[in-house]
Amino acid sequence: MIEPEEGVPTVLNLSEIAEREKEEEEKVVEIVREFGAENLIYCMQCGSCAAVCPLARVGFEWYNKKLIKALLLGLKEELLDDPTPWACVACNRCTEVCPRLVSPFEVMFAVRRMMVEEFAIPTLAIEGLRALYEYGHAVYMTGREARKKVGLPEKPPSTDSDEQALKDLKTILKNTKLAELGLIPMND
Ligand code: SF4
Ligand code: SF4
Repeated sequence: MIEPEEGVPTVLNLSEIAEREKEEEEKVVEIVREFGAENLIYCMQCGSCAAVCPLARVGFEWYNKKLIKALLLGLKEELLDDPTPWACVACNRCTEVCPRLVSPFEVMFAVRRMMVEEFAIPTLAIEGLRALYEYGHAVYMTGREARKKVGLPEKPPSTDSDEQALKDLKTILKNTKLAELGLIPMND
């Protein structure tokens, strides 16, 4: 083997880099598959899920179809900095229209789980998690006064008004990764 002379740039071993990138790509796909996105690899990028996704309509960067493509390309670091998966409203429209049974909704949530493992949770999500713990709703309704005005009970007929259900939910949340992270107070 010829030793590099001083000042001469080292020759890049492209096959080694390609091999490493392939390993990274396989790694991120395996991570999200383990977190619930089992059918990710069957995506054919038809775009049906993007056509019905509210996130795509309002301009979130990594909406379903694009997120799946990025994962298949092994782009983990780029995704960790983005809040898109936390903005998914779980409407499941994408799951209904996907011809390959990929369930892009599950991909979104699998990426959330991956982000939690990496401590890459955007502030946008922390408020939602706090509301989930306090009231049982990740997107908390602020319209209590409005509800009263139209003759409705102040709290909706959900976990928010069911003491036992809320207590059970808190117990569940305290036994998840969320409690380990210590991002929100979970004292009661
Ligand atoms: S609808 Fe299904 S196959 Fe088409 S891009 Fe979305 S996930 Fe992929
Ligand atoms: S479930 Fe999430 S990813 Fe799927 S269409 Fe609704 S907002 Fe988009």
